[in-house]
Amino acid sequence: MDIIGILKDYPLCHRCFGRLCGKVLHTSNYERGKSIKMAKAMELESKLYSLMEKYDDGNNEDIDKDNDDYKDNNNDKDNDTNHNLDACNNNKGNDMDKILQKIKEDLYYIHRSGLLEIKGINGEEEYSTNENMEINCPWCKSIFNEKNLNDILEGALSLLKDYQYDSFLVGTILPKDIKKLEEEIRTPYMESIRQEFNRVMGRLLVENTGKIVDKQNPDIVIKINPYNKKIELQVNSIFIKGRYRKLIRGIPQTKWPCNHCRGKGCENCNYTGKRYNTSVEEIIAEPFMEVFKGKDESFHGAGREDIDVRMLGKGRPFVLQIKEPKIRKANLEEIKEKINRSGSVEVLNLEYGIKRDVVFFKNEPHRKTYLAVVECEEEVSNEELLKVVKNLENSSIDQRTPLRVSHRRADLIRVRRVYDVEVNRIDPKTFELKIYCDGGLYIKELISGDENRTLPSVSEILNKKCKCKTLDVLEVHDEDV
Ligand SMILES: [Zn+2]
Ligand SMILES: [Zn+2]
Repeated sequence: MDIIGILKDYPLCHRCFGRLCGKVLHTSNYERGKSIKMAKAMELESKLYSLMEKYDDGNNEDIDKDNDDYKDNNNDKDNDTNHNLDACNNNKGNDMDKILQKIKEDLYYIHRSGLLEIKGINGEEEYSTNENMEINCPWCKSIFNEKNLNDILEGALSLLKDYQYDSFLVGTILPKDIKKLEEEIRTPYMESIRQEFNRVMGRLLVENTGKIVDKQNPDIVIKINPYNKKIELQVNSIFIKGRYRKLIRGIPQTKWPCNHCRGKGCENCNYTGKRYNTSVEEIIAEPFMEVFKGKDESFHGAGREDIDVRMLGKGRPFVLQIKEPKIRKANLEEIKEKINRSGSVEVLNLEYGIKRDVVFFKNEPHRKTYLAVVECEEEVSNEELLKVVKNLENSSIDQRTPLRVSHRRADLIRVRRVYDVEVNRIDPKTFELKIYCDGGLYIKELISGDENRTLPSVSEILNKKCKCKTLDVLEVHDEDV
């Protein structure tokens, strides 16, 4: 590939020219670019001198043979007539001029792109300083000069000083015209100027901050457009994993905006914008947000319980995502104690997580153990209680989407398994029902039957109308065992 030809259309500086084959020969782009230009210039210059020497001696025979590259192809048809002695000398003279002209032109394009050592051979314009060479370079437009780099470094440092972080990554943003130019001059071994700027600015930032570059999972991505010096920080979220226990009934798992105003605040919600005063999410997130000084948060539970259902036992797994935190390290024990003092929600097993944990949570179906208090319209005998156990244990339940959620869930029939059942009488019409079952089984409907949408159900087995009086989640099991 003749990359020298690119200089005709684009006067690339040494550094940019070297980047055209940045993936070969381990040296700096500047050295590589300058060396290729020099080697080519030396080749052209020596050719020029030897041709001129031969020309002066009137010894033209070898010119065609040695200089096929520099012969105008359009003249090929004239070569037949070169045997005509009269025409011979004139044609040789014309060819010679063309060859010399082409070599001089190529040399000119190399000079123009800043090879100072041989300037002026053609008496053309001069490029007297390196600075000019870079300013005229259409690719880098001198973004690598010291002042520009320093301005960007200062700008980045002043934005970063508000944040705690251990690692970062520079993300260079190229203007459209530079992207287009890279498409036009692309070679198979080219390095994008984005990669070089990432590297150069990354090194400067490491030196000035003592932090490390992390390409996989940086705390902060520093997005820089080096051409207009615009800098933007993308502060990545932190993730806190843990389990929560909900000790009281009547609060939802996540923030619940007011139905009337959708969160704006109205008379119905006392201008809070919320349907419920608080939620598991808010009780857990507020102390975290205070310490980590995040901009926003997002709460991801491994499933959710109804508002009137308690979450007991070892708790339900959750991940709290804290967005754009200014602080990334804190004493989780202290935050835990603060949450647990709320009396309504407790957290345990707090630790730092990663983004993937959120996806894992959403896709992992957890088996559950529930404790329901069942209230029957009529008295229930002991035999009937045993029948409930016998009929539900190790059985498959066909459950059509419950009426109460059918407005927001697709109407379909799910099959879930019940593994283990225990009953415990409270009074003639009331008993406790403990169930170990697949995640996703609606327990209230398993008891009521939901107008025969759930089969079998406690109501159906007893042939008596039953309902779930209270419900607790006793355990969210980690593995399906
Ligand atoms: Zn350049
Ligand atoms: Zn409202």
